[in-house]
Amino acid sequence: MLKESTFDHFDVIVIGAGVGGLTSAALLAKAGKKVLLVEKEARTGGFIRPLEYGPYHFDVGARLLMGCNPEGPFGPGSVHALLEVLGAADLCEFIPIQPFVTIRLPGSTYPMASGREAFVEGLSGAFPTGLENLPQLLDLCSRLYRSAKAVMLAKKPWGLLKMPSILPDLLRYRNATMEDVLSRVIPDLRPRVALEALWPYLGLAPQRASFLMWALLMTTYIEEVPIPAKVGCIPWQMQLPVPLSARAGSCCSAVKPQRSWSKTGQ
Ligand SMILES: Cc1cc2nc3c(=O)[nH]c(=O)nc-3n(C[C@H](O)[C@H](O)[C@H](O)COP(=O)(O)OP(=O)(O)OC[C@H]3O[C@@H](n4cnc5c(N)ncnc54)[C@H](O)[C@@H]3O)c2cc1C
Repeated sequence: MLKESTFDHFDVIVIGAGVGGLTSAALLAKAGKKVLLVEKEARTGGFIRPLEYGPYHFDVGARLLMGCNPEGPFGPGSVHALLEVLGAADLCEFIPIQPFVTIRLPGSTYPMASGREAFVEGLSGAFPTGLENLPQLLDLCSRLYRSAKAVMLAKKPWGLLKMPSILPDLLRYRNATMEDVLSRVIPDLRPRVALEALWPYLGLAPQRASFLMWALLMTTYIEEVPIPAKVGCIPWQMQLPVPLSARAGSCCSAVKPQRSWSKTGQ
């Protein structure tokens, strides 16, 4: 149990050393705040760190990571940019994998690969017909991604008024479901089902899931090249927690004996 007086030494107390808490604590420490990061487990990382049991490692959550690329069609990836800001980019090695997912449907299997060409090749290899409108669909997804990113990065809402070209698409598709758009653009059921296969990540079936969210998800997978870090658990999941912990201010665990990962602020 931490003494109440301990809290007086800090500007900010962050509860939970998952990737969210680690990132917040590291950015606050970087901004000069005195940060205490409190974690109830004996290890940092939350859902992005595997559980170890004897010689075995179990994935508990994340297995793919996007945005590790220093450069891509939309600029530096977000994870890379974060690590750069924290001066931790050199501490991480991300290993791109291809394909990042293999979709198996009754009677067909297709490798979902990152990079526009590889993605189209994988999909059309399994479905030689029915994908005539795929390039237009991918263009639309990229446009929506660019627009959404501009909205997220806009420092002031009225800044958006200076970028009139980004709003019409976002407004047009704001209420569209995956099914609304994909059934129109890819009428052939089999390639469409294959293209929609990652809908569980959105938590809703294509009839209810947002087309905008699907477009953003697919664009990060396809275009944030060289895409994700190593699949499976071990190496990459250690990559983020360790350097982030090293920059996250003072960290302590509620598990006894209390363990300190880092004493330094930055
Ligand atoms: C099965 C699965 C698959 C996923 N796949 C991917 C993927 O491929 N790619 C991807 O990018 N994302 C993926 N995600 C999502 C990603 O893992 C999470 O979004 C991310 O890890 C959440 O981080 P967080 O810091 O918000 O929360 P968490 O990782 O849950 O961390 C919360 C931390 O707070 C601690 N804590 C909780 N309560 C307290 C308390 N009272 N006091 C002190 N500490 C406390 C916990 O012990 C934990 O360490 C997946 C998630 C799941 C579940």
